[in-house]
Amino acid sequence: MKPGVLSKSPAARPAPSMPRLSPSGWILLALLPVLAVAPLLLPTYQVTLANNIGIFALATLGLVLLTGVAGMTSFGQAAFIGVSAYAAAYLATVSAADLPGPLAWMAGSPLAGLAVGLVLTLVIATVLGAVTLRLSGHYLPLGTIAWGLSLFYLFGNLEFLGGHTGLSGIPALNLFGIAFDKAEALFYLIWAVLLLAVVATLNLLDSRVGRAIRALRGGQRMSESMGVDSFRAKMTAFLVAALYAGLAGWLYAYTQRFVSPAPFSLQAGIDFLFMALIGGVGQVWGAVIGAAGVTFAKQWLQDLLPHLLGRTGNFEAIVFGLLIVLLMQRLPGGIAGWIAKTSERRRHRPAALESAASDLPDAAPLPRRAMPQKGEAVLEAKGVTRRFGGLVANRDISFTVRAGEILAVIGPNGAGKSTLFNQLSCVDHPTSGEILFRGERIDGRTARAMAGAGLSRSFQHVKLLPTMSVLENVAIGAHLRGSKGVAAAALRLDRAEEAQLLAEARRQLVRVGLGQHLHAEAGSLALGQQRILEIARALCADPCLLLLDEPAAGLRFLEKQALAELLGKLRSEGMAILLVEHDMDFVMGLVDRVYVMEFGERIAEGPPETIQTNPAVLEAYLGGIE
Ligand code: ADP
Ligand code: MG
Repeated sequence: MKPGVLSKSPAARPAPSMPRLSPSGWILLALLPVLAVAPLLLPTYQVTLANNIGIFALATLGLVLLTGVAGMTSFGQAAFIGVSAYAAAYLATVSAADLPGPLAWMAGSPLAGLAVGLVLTLVIATVLGAVTLRLSGHYLPLGTIAWGLSLFYLFGNLEFLGGHTGLSGIPALNLFGIAFDKAEALFYLIWAVLLLAVVATLNLLDSRVGRAIRALRGGQRMSESMGVDSFRAKMTAFLVAALYAGLAGWLYAYTQRFVSPAPFSLQAGIDFLFMALIGGVGQVWGAVIGAAGVTFAKQWLQDLLPHLLGRTGNFEAIVFGLLIVLLMQRLPGGIAGWIAKTSERRRHRPAALESAASDLPDAAPLPRRAMPQKGEAVLEAKGVTRRFGGLVANRDISFTVRAGEILAVIGPNGAGKSTLFNQLSCVDHPTSGEILFRGERIDGRTARAMAGAGLSRSFQHVKLLPTMSVLENVAIGAHLRGSKGVAAAALRLDRAEEAQLLAEARRQLVRVGLGQHLHAEAGSLALGQQRILEIARALCADPCLLLLDEPAAGLRFLEKQALAELLGKLRSEGMAILLVEHDMDFVMGLVDRVYVMEFGERIAEGPPETIQTNPAVLEAYLGGIE
């Protein structure tokens, strides 16, 4: 198994008699004795170097989460370190007389500095996040450059922060009577904080909130349809990254005992991105590897190059840039990514053995919603019309789907099926007409709200997270059936709920016949299996209506048979199913009623047998094929 975020969740591992250690557990176990003796054996200047690496790694860890996992590039991480470093430095050096009366006690208190620094960082991050995280594409990184620069110039221009010369004379850190006045003492503090942050991050990624953050890369339409609040997931990743930067800033202030604007510049923000890239974006341990690698390489080049070239200058910046381009070309997954891949290959596990359906602990089943009675109208379209400018893509469409029934909407290309599907799934809304779900109007509601109400869907073009396990992909569907948040996840207080969610995902996978592939990467499945995975994911939300967009497209004959069998089974359990389909043979053997569209209008409706012989349908639809 690979280290880092892509490792399979420990809860998904066999957990019978002997508790098994995850790869990250092994890394920690190996690292602890090394870290314990390192300050005793190393010369002080190397301990100081290790302290810097620890602080950089903490800030880089935030970027791994933000950029690597959630896919949001930020150049502003250094600025957040600055905010908290300045807060700590200011409160450490200000005299009590200069603070307003009620705050005078804060002067000289490192813990007050920590609290104020973290609160300030989080408040600024919340405001900046609210503005920038809604930007898409290149606008987000550009936004982070903008506020990174603004904060940098702010540090240099505020008189009470010492302007460009900064604040010096920060006393040595003293916490609860322990003096952190030597590099060796600080080493233990810094690395303890770093390791705690690493563990919290690993826990977070291996949770319901973590899956929501990881799902951001799979396209937000998918996760929103599963009930995930994408903006909230982005904000969570952003604030956790800022929190780590804040911690790093406080440690930095007390390590350097001097704070000036230069280390929090845009250049530093770029350096942190390099560290994340080189370590391997998305790999939690990559943050440590990247911070160490970049710091050592910089030092080494600074010593070596002037020697080689016979003159002084910042040559290392040039060589460094070239090295990074080379590394990115040879190892696009970074160093930690490369280690993960090779160790994966070497282990060479037989897939079937790995994924016996029985290796998850059993958990109490999740509560289920009250299902409609068989025959009850679940979805109704009443005179739905959708115009795009002058084009009428859907005109006066009306039908009902009942519990325990499969309705197929068919029609040639351009008939308006996808337009209709989008409105039924609340991705788009009718120009006129009504859509009712269990008797209530839903036109105007969001896809996310409908996921909660019991409408679940699959996608015409499969949308899943290819490097995430099959089980975790399906567990995204159960997002709204859990409630534990970031703090619970980081502290591992969510394990009971997490076991329930994963057990539900397994139950649905077994139900659809993918029980043998729980721990395989979703991307390694055949297309037919991926479509079935999407149905399992939809079922995980405990829906009473399934909307399936061309579920048989691209499937082989046997896969179609398996799919038809599954849909028949779901129908007999009382599920209402609407499918938009192109494949006539698939539809005819399976569904109860067919609704045929052409040029945005209904041309026929009825049981498959009558539709097959309907002259208008033969003319419009079959005629076009034969
Ligand atoms: P189908 O899925 O049956 O092939 P669609 O619903 O995709 O058909 O398209 C129906 C008609 O509506 C087509 O003529 C298409 O060009 C048009 N259409 C679909 N979406 C849009 C849109 N967003 N803007 C303008 N025209 C659209
Ligand atoms: Mg279509």
